Amino acid sequence: MNIFIMGAPGSGKGTFSSRIRDTYNLNHISTGDIFRENISKGTPLGQQARQYSEKGLLVPDEITNAMVADYLRNLPDRKNGYLLDGYPRTLAQAKAFEELTAGTADAPDLVLSMDVPFDVLTKRITGRRTCSKCGAIYNIYTKAPAAEGICDACGTELSQRKDDNEESLKVRLNEYAANTEPVIDYYASRDMVERVNADRPIEEIWSDVQEILNSK
Ligand SMILES: [Zn+2]
Repeated sequence: MNIFIMGAPGSGKGTFSSRIRDTYNLNHISTGDIFRENISKGTPLGQQARQYSEKGLLVPDEITNAMVADYLRNLPDRKNGYLLDGYPRTLAQAKAFEELTAGTADAPDLVLSMDVPFDVLTKRITGRRTCSKCGAIYNIYTKAPAAEGICDACGTELSQRKDDNEESLKVRLNEYAANTEPVIDYYASRDMVERVNADRPIEEIWSDVQEILNSK
């Protein structure tokens, strides 16, 4: 089974990706990893991509698409399929990937959309505080430390990641709404999308995800 997993920042996509990968024996692939691998190995596509990123330009879709398709073709072990994370990010990528993989074993079967309302995501992310010493994670809205700004476990002052502020998050959420929602709509029109209400306790969400995947 070949799956695209979609979800805005803070949707828990990473957690569920790991569980899906392990439970269903899939290749979990993120486009970030594919990029880094092509660039470090100096493949022709990696060299082209590097030229763009060195100039501060976005890597064009056709290079990204070719890298992903190439990566899938050359997997040492195809396992039970793939779980692609972070791709396709735009409608243009979705359509191009479809042309590259139509009729092959690499065509996608299912799009899993991890849905969480944006106001919930905002609290999850902007409320997050971490302890740099012991790694404990808090949330000022849902899991506040006993003393404000201080780690319960080790007494260290908590900090907020630079990207977790409201302005930066708004940019990322808007980007997701503008680019990725149309991708989900596109696959929904082809009856390939399963939407999961991901604003619930983790085990309830996981139970729904398994039910969906087991029925395929
Ligand atoms: Zn701590």
